[in-house]
This record gives sequence, structure tokens and C-alpha cells, in this order.
Amino acid sequence: DTIGVNLARAVAAYPDREALVDVPSGRRWTYAQFGRAVDEVARALIAQRVGRGDRVGIWAVNCPEWVLVQYATARIGAILVTINPAYRVHELAYVLRQAGIEVLIASTEYRTSDYRAMAQAVRAECPGLRQVVHIGDPSWQEFVAGAAGVPQDRPGTDEAALSCDDAVNIQYTSGTTGFPKGATLSHHNILNNGYFVGELVAYTEQDRICLPVPFYHCFGMVMGNLAATSHGACMVIPAPVFDPAATLRAVQQERCTSLYGVPTMFIAELDLPDFASYDISTLRTGIMAGSPCPVEVMKRVVAEMHMAEVAICYGMTETSPVSTQTRRDDDLERRTATVGRVLPHIEVKVVDPATGVTVPRGEPGELCTRGYSVMLGYWDEPERTAEAVDAGRWMHTGDLAVLREDGYVTIVGRIKDMIIRGGENVYPREVEEFLHTHPKVADVQVVGVPDERYGEEIVACVIPRDPADPLTLQELTAFCRGRLAHFKVPHRLRVVDAFPMTVSGKVRKVELREAAARDTP
Ligand code: ATP
Ligand code: MG
Repeated sequence: DTIGVNLARAVAAYPDREALVDVPSGRRWTYAQFGRAVDEVARALIAQRVGRGDRVGIWAVNCPEWVLVQYATARIGAILVTINPAYRVHELAYVLRQAGIEVLIASTEYRTSDYRAMAQAVRAECPGLRQVVHIGDPSWQEFVAGAAGVPQDRPGTDEAALSCDDAVNIQYTSGTTGFPKGATLSHHNILNNGYFVGELVAYTEQDRICLPVPFYHCFGMVMGNLAATSHGACMVIPAPVFDPAATLRAVQQERCTSLYGVPTMFIAELDLPDFASYDISTLRTGIMAGSPCPVEVMKRVVAEMHMAEVAICYGMTETSPVSTQTRRDDDLERRTATVGRVLPHIEVKVVDPATGVTVPRGEPGELCTRGYSVMLGYWDEPERTAEAVDAGRWMHTGDLAVLREDGYVTIVGRIKDMIIRGGENVYPREVEEFLHTHPKVADVQVVGVPDERYGEEIVACVIPRDPADPLTLQELTAFCRGRLAHFKVPHRLRVVDAFPMTVSGKVRKVELREAAARDTP
């Protein structure tokens, strides 16, 4: 199916159930209303001469219009290019040109960001950009009013001509390791992935999913929105950008059954001083993904947030995104030590990154995945596509992993993050897990910096629980002594207030490593 056909099915099956709730503005849509609102935006796009294969950009913080545009573009066969709302003029201009965007739909303003002024500033450099619409200002009303000139049945008629193998999105990676790459994904890629992710957490039309993760990223728009609409569940938007208190308020007010986030978001929610005052007992499940979840955090999510069935997902934008996921009845060991097992219709293998030969089960190597989920390619970058996807259609993830005897996958870290100290391989994740158990540590990242003697030396970057009483290097080494192999013990410490993050909530280790290399004595 195409995404439009799949949505029409949910509208027919659950017309009176809620599809979308925007907590900040109080606006809400049933599936019947949502289907009509999507049609209206689809006709408004047709009125702007947007057709099959044309690129429409969306550069906005989370809001209901984001979701309407997502489905409206899919409905008419256009390609939605999802642009990070944190981008500024330089990066925006790059994406607009790289993807050949003709119509841009953007926020108006958010906090100190003036999207109108920034969009104006790039217009001269982007002659292909015909039109800019700002959500929440008169240009949006004008744009939607254009729908009146297009017959009601128009999007439906066009839909028959679409193929589920057509490109539907260009989604950008998080930019954790460098400049983000635009993955071109088809209806078939992402609709199936959203559906299977939802199946494995057993979504039904009774579920209400709280989505504090950004829509511009696959976590929000596929694992969130598409998983919801392919099961008739409700999407709940707690705030335009992540805010821990607003998230818990939305869960309480909307009686959400599922909550999403990267581990740092769950940490921020659990650490709210008034955490205990929110009634979040309606939660049963949720999804945690994007980066490794510390064991201590998982225990609290299950015990204190009631998310007994919480799933860990592993994947990447290039694979629609999810490749492996834990199952509902998995125990704490599987939920913390692994990222689950492979999804239906996807294959995984672990190879020696140097030779490409499959390593024995239980040994680390580069994780490769194959199946319906592998992207069509990086948009307009065939060389980079060929580096990532080999001739056998295997996606080389760049992640080090172990495939266990029980079929569960453990992520060891990114190949690029591995530290080689004095000839020994050190995986930052293992050291981070251990340091998380120190009472003075709120959060920790471990990176390698160049060292004359050992090649690389290990630095622990620590956010202290109490800034007035931070961990000292003596305390750190004493804590590790006898409990961690000597070559894994960090010999340098950096106390910080925060880590450099991507908008999807991941720590930019590259930046952290550069800062640590500069400043750590
Ligand atoms: P870029 O490719 O631009 O450097 P990125 O790889 O972070 O950024 P995404 O596609 O958003 O961009 O993220 C995919 C990556 O996130 C995976 O390759 C993996 O390293 C990491 N990841 C995803 N899920 C998990 C998980 N559950 N546990 C550990 N790591 C994860
Ligand atoms: Mg990546």
C-alpha cells in the first residue's frame, strides 16, 4: 500500500476515534476529521502545482500541521524533505538546493528563531524555491484556502497512479558523526517499518502515544506517526520541542499508554524535582531508541514510569529506520544488554569490517542489515550510497555489534567511537555503564583523545549530580580500581554541565572528543 491508501483505511475503520491531539493549543482531530484535513492540505498543494515526485520541504518544530503535511504530500505522490528546525540559513540553503525543493513549509517563530527572516535570507540563493508558507501566519491560511479551487476527489484520483516503491521522503540522519545525509525512502520502506514496530508493541486503536521526539527525524515520523496511523492509534504532541515537564503533563492529561524518547529524555523526566507528582500510571509501553540505554535508567523507566513493556529499538535513518527490537515479554537482561532481535522480513549479519567476512556468533564486528527497509539511496549521491549499501543490497551500518546465540543483538558502539589505548580496544559504552553506577554521576560520556604514550587516552566527561560536589579524579580512579580492567580506567576527567547534542537528542561525541582533546589536562 501507499501511505495515503493506508490512512484511508484507518479513517474508514475508526472515524470517531482520536487521531491527533496538540496539547499546547488544545486542538484535536478524530480520524474522520484528520482524513479531511489531510485532503484539504493535499488539494492546497495541488493548487500550488505540486505533483508526483516534486520536493516539498518542511522546516518546523513539532505541531499538527507538520503531521498534516506529512500525509498530504504522501497522498499526492510528492516527496517530503524533512529539515531539522535547528538549521540556520547556511544549512537550510544547502538542503533546499541539494534536494531541489520548490515549496517550503516552515514554522513562523519559535523562541529566538525567526523562521520568516531566515527563509527570506535564503531566497536569493535558491532560485528553484517557488513558494514559502509559514505555519501560524496568514500565508498558511492563504495556502490552505487554495484547496477550494481543486475538486474534492482530486487526491483520491491521483492516488491510483502512485506506486508503493515511489520515493515519499528524504529524511536526514542525525549528524552525529558529521554532516547529515539525506536518505531517500519509499512508501514501502517506511510504511512497513512503522507497521511492524507498532505490531511488536501491540498497538491498537485504544493506544495514545506521547511524542516528544522531533517529527523531522524517523523516530517521530515513522516509529511514531506511521506506527500510530497504521493501527488506528492516537498521536499526542506534548510540546513544540522536547520539554520534560510538558511531556509528563501531556501523558497525565491525555492518559497516554505509550511514551517515546532517547535515553537522555527519560533521564530528564525522571530527574524532574516534582516527578512523583505526575499521574502517569496509564503508561504501559513506549519506545526507547537512538543511543544505548544505561541499565539504571531502564530499571527506573520500568519501575517508576510503569512502562513494563517498553521496547528498545535499534536502527538508522537509512533503514526506515528499525532493524531490531525487543519483544513485550523480554526480561530486563535482554532490554538492557541487547537491542532486541531482528524484525520480520529483515536479515542481519555481523562481518569483519576489514574483510567483509561473517564472524562467528558471539564475536564483535560490523552489523549489516538487508530487506525491504533499506533506503532507495542517498538523494543525488550515488557514490556515498555505494559506500553504504553493497552490491548484495546489504546496508553497512558503521556500528559494532555482537549477534548472540539467542538471536539477540548487542550494540558495542560505533566503529568511529572505539578507543584504542595501548593496543587494547576499549568500547566507551562499557565504561559509561560502569561509571553510571557512581552516586555522584548524573550522566557520563567516555571518549578517547590523542596521547603520545598510549596512542589514545580515555577521558570521562561527567555531568555531576550535585554541581557543588562534583566527582574528583581521585574518586573516579579509586572507584574503578579492582572493578574495571586497568586499560579501561579513564585517566582524565572533565566535569561539564551538559553534552553537545543533536536535535534528535544524541550526544555529539565528535564535538565532545574535540573539546576534551583541547582542554583536558
Ligand atoms: P549520522 O549518520 O549523521 O552521523 P546518526 O547515525 O546518529 O547520524 P541516525 O540515523 O539518526 O543518525 O541514527 C542511527 C544510529 O544511532 C545507529 O547507526 C546507531 O549508531 C545509533 N543507534 C540507534 N539506535 C540505537 C540503540 N538502541 N542503541 C545504540 N545505538 C543506537
Ligand atoms: Mg548514521
